[in-house]
Amino acid sequence: MTDQTLYPVPERWAERAYIDADRYAEWYRKSLDDPDGFWGEQADRLDWIRRFTKVKNTSFAYPDITIKWFEDGTLNVSANCIDRHLADRAEQTAIIFEPDSPDETPRHITYRELHDQVSRLANVLKERGVRRGDRVTIYLPMIPEAAFAMLACARIGATHSVVFGGFSPDSLAGRIEDCRSTFLITADEGLRGGKPVPLKANADKAVERAAAEGVNVKSVLVVRRTGGTVEMKEGRDLWFHEEVARASADCPPVEMGAEDPLFILYTSGSTGKPKGVLHTTGGYLLYAAMTHRIVFDYHDGNVYWCAADVGWVTGHSYVVYGPLANGATTLMFEGVPNWPTPARIWEVVDRHGVNTLYTAPTAIRSLMGAGNDYVQQTSRKSLRLLGTVGEPINPEAWHWYHHVVGEDRCPIMDTWWQTETGGHMITPLPGATALKPGSATLPFFGIRPVLVDGEGHALEGAGDGNLCIADSWPGQMRTVYGDHKRFVETYFALYKGKYFTGDGCRRDADGYYWITGRVDDVLNVSGHRLGTAEVESSLVAHPKVSEAAVVGYPHDLKGQGIYCYVTLMEGEEPSDELKKELRDWVRRDIGPIASPDQIQFSPGLPKTRSGKIMRRILRKIAEDDYSNLGDTSTLADPGVVDNLVGNRQNRR
Ligand code: ATP
Ligand code: MG
Repeated sequence: MTDQTLYPVPERWAERAYIDADRYAEWYRKSLDDPDGFWGEQADRLDWIRRFTKVKNTSFAYPDITIKWFEDGTLNVSANCIDRHLADRAEQTAIIFEPDSPDETPRHITYRELHDQVSRLANVLKERGVRRGDRVTIYLPMIPEAAFAMLACARIGATHSVVFGGFSPDSLAGRIEDCRSTFLITADEGLRGGKPVPLKANADKAVERAAAEGVNVKSVLVVRRTGGTVEMKEGRDLWFHEEVARASADCPPVEMGAEDPLFILYTSGSTGKPKGVLHTTGGYLLYAAMTHRIVFDYHDGNVYWCAADVGWVTGHSYVVYGPLANGATTLMFEGVPNWPTPARIWEVVDRHGVNTLYTAPTAIRSLMGAGNDYVQQTSRKSLRLLGTVGEPINPEAWHWYHHVVGEDRCPIMDTWWQTETGGHMITPLPGATALKPGSATLPFFGIRPVLVDGEGHALEGAGDGNLCIADSWPGQMRTVYGDHKRFVETYFALYKGKYFTGDGCRRDADGYYWITGRVDDVLNVSGHRLGTAEVESSLVAHPKVSEAAVVGYPHDLKGQGIYCYVTLMEGEEPSDELKKELRDWVRRDIGPIASPDQIQFSPGLPKTRSGKIMRRILRKIAEDDYSNLGDTSTLADPGVVDNLVGNRQNRR
């Protein structure tokens, strides 16, 4: 049923990587037995202004949750990501910018230039009245100015809230209102797949709506990206390039407490209204830097590319903060994977000699659907390591990524983590962990996963349950901004004494972890627990299926029935025979218990902007409950939902 093929650690990886299997075992044990000692030593990865005397002060005892790391230490995040590298690597490229169009020249920004840009921008913010602790909203495309803006906030102690540039004016307004942000950084227009995105016009609407709700954005700083015409409001709107050009390049970084806020970031909204996740300074940066270094085995001179948008936590930790804290060369890609052709990603890899590529299963599946020619017409010889994040990766896609993209030479780091966790939690390490396709494998240092049953009893050994984490780690979120009660209730109320992730998970006999999907999505069919990911993975393995989403619906006999939404490959036609074929396929693959009760062919699935399927909406449709589909503000294409509802109703 699940692929149990084991991919042993290649010998050259065991030799060269920072962490081999022995060191993993030794460090892991120490990280649990002596967290103060372990994290106290690891904290040397950062430059502290005042060294902490206390390492860990945490408790998950409901309802008095305490999460403090290095609490009396002080540091500055931008100094750690920039200033401290100037002595050795001022002329090294910090950021490679690959624009949307392959015809536009890429930019290389050195650490010296980064220092100059960030310092100037930080001075602009200060002159315009932004103070330590103020919230600054960043609504930008994937351009280097987005990283400058984040680091400029960090430099002066302002808290940034990055909102994905694909969001609507209403979604932007909601986030500005929620954190009562008074300063906005945006661009005239974004560019994605050759099409302009009216960021400034969206921002204007959002600012207006926020004002009506009593939140006044005083200044809007506008990056000129396309040169498209925009309206500039006198006294409020400022051109980024003009302000930065006249500002001083001298801006000493502010001394921040380790527990001072660094940023607010709203979750993807897969399961409900997005939560304003708050991360702080010391623990977050240490955890992002350490995981980036070790999981991707980053060495000086490597070119590293995380293809996530800065609007997601992956972009925060693994485009900006982790890599820059490590003095890395990080690539920012403005465009989309399938424009001008589905070869774009591989062409960018060749163009910049990318060694590490980190992306999401949704992108991998869509490029796989486009066929191997696009991949094989490129060299990709620079690639050494591949990564994936965001959803369980189905073994079919894993094998394609490994075999076709990486030509069997690049280990795949399937990293399980969340906006809330700040960095990787369950993940292989390339020199230490034998891989199993579809498994996120083993916990990172300091992480204690626990599987619990419905009553909260911890399961020993192999088994299936709800994934909790037993103790705190430095990268953990500290609160839901402005709603600490929601924080405590969401994560700590259900299973007392533990952080509840919301995900279902299986542990196999080797102690490997397999994320089975969100707990809300786990099916109970005639008393059997079945992960949606499992059924989806089986469907997607069928040659005619490109994507699948599975949900439960009330069923008289079985308790829950299995409802499958299936998107076919280009050129395949829906038919009743095909339905039967798919039913038999899943039966054979997983067993009769998993046999789909209903199959609906659908040309598209409702996804969040970060590419995750919103099963909660599909569940409502399967249950014929269209009245309250919940928060749909983070949907990539709201039209998909109308389509599904229409098709479903026609069939009744
Ligand atoms: P919301 O919390 O608002 O519903 P979200 O959970 O999609 O949205 P994120 O923090 O972006 O927001 O996503 C984290 C979730 O993504 C995890 O809880 C898990 O369900 C899924 N996930 C991430 N990486 C992996 C992975 N490698 N394997 C399996 N699932 C993953
Ligand atoms: Mg979540």
